[in-house]
Amino acid sequence: MSDDLNPQAGECPECAAVFVLPTGTVVGEILPCPDCAAELEVVALDPPRLALAPEIEEDWGE
Ligand SMILES: [Zn+2]
Repeated sequence: MSDDLNPQAGECPECAAVFVLPTGTVVGEILPCPDCAAELEVVALDPPRLALAPEIEEDWGE
């Protein structure tokens, strides 16, 4: 049995918006919140959980 086709809804920890994760979303993926544009990391899929993605620090080291 596959649950790949089930739409899964996650909640934005920043603004509490609930939105359906795109089909094929995987744990670790970064999705932008459609409401507040925060970058959210998918930390679990069953049930879906979203966490604010850590800000990516650009490393300009030589
Ligand atoms: Zn949001």
